[in-house]
Amino acid sequence: VRATGKLFPATDDQPAIFSGTVADITEQKQDDQRKMDFIGIVSHELRSPLTSLNGYVQMLNLKARKTEDPMVLDITAKAKRQVDKMSSMITGFLDVARAGESQIQLRRKAFDMADLVKAAEEESLATVTTHPIIFHPVEFTPVVADPDKIEQVLVNFINNAVKYSPQGTTINVACITRDGWAHVSVSDEGMGIAPKDIPLVFERFYRVEREELKTVKGFGIGLYLCKDIIERHGGEIGVESVLHKGSVFWFQIPVAG
Ligand code: ADP
Repeated sequence: VRATGKLFPATDDQPAIFSGTVADITEQKQDDQRKMDFIGIVSHELRSPLTSLNGYVQMLNLKARKTEDPMVLDITAKAKRQVDKMSSMITGFLDVARAGESQIQLRRKAFDMADLVKAAEEESLATVTTHPIIFHPVEFTPVVADPDKIEQVLVNFINNAVKYSPQGTTINVACITRDGWAHVSVSDEGMGIAPKDIPLVFERFYRVEREELKTVKGFGIGLYLCKDIIERHGGEIGVESVLHKGSVFWFQIPVAG
């Protein structure tokens, strides 16, 4: 049972009063469990073909090196990167499904956030054709963090911006240093999020229910994983949004040194 409301303590002339709603969330719990089971099964099933794919891409990569054709080399390297990314996402999903909460292992190292934003820019240029994405220049920003996981968060924000804003509208990506934080933001001119949904979008399986979203696919797990990753880095994550105007998703992690 979940209770939301306010408790007025007892006074001399009246007993304690609870004003609010009490909901039976058994069904919601069962529903969440079914989703976790499903994600667990799907991730597990995807793992073995992905392992084979990884092997084939590696073979191709070796062959490409012999041909010394820069285009073939470039494409096989990109394919390998995407396969690696998918593997790490599946590992994340499996963690969520298994443990009820993720047990993501961080592999921290020192790197420059500007390089990471640059990598995301290259990837977006190669994969996003529907929206212009402006990457603002980033100064040298040293951090000690897991670069793959931080990139996963940034790419997730960008993919959501693409997914939840009309074709042709601009997306802005920026990274600045502020009060000892490396602060990264992705702004879009999309559908925005209603105030009541804003505190909920980082919750596991939460998806906003709106007529225009009926056809947009998703699990409601991406932002949950982002929050988990950023909090494990001792960082902060959030969103500012105006309905029908757009959203700014941001995260910040400590600058090194
Ligand atoms: P999914 O996209 O799979 O539903 P997420 O966890 O990434 O899962 O996002 C949760 C919800 O937050 C989405 O269903 C969507 O309603 C809302 N959301 C996320 N990003 C944006 C955005 N840029 N603009 C508007 N709504 C968003």
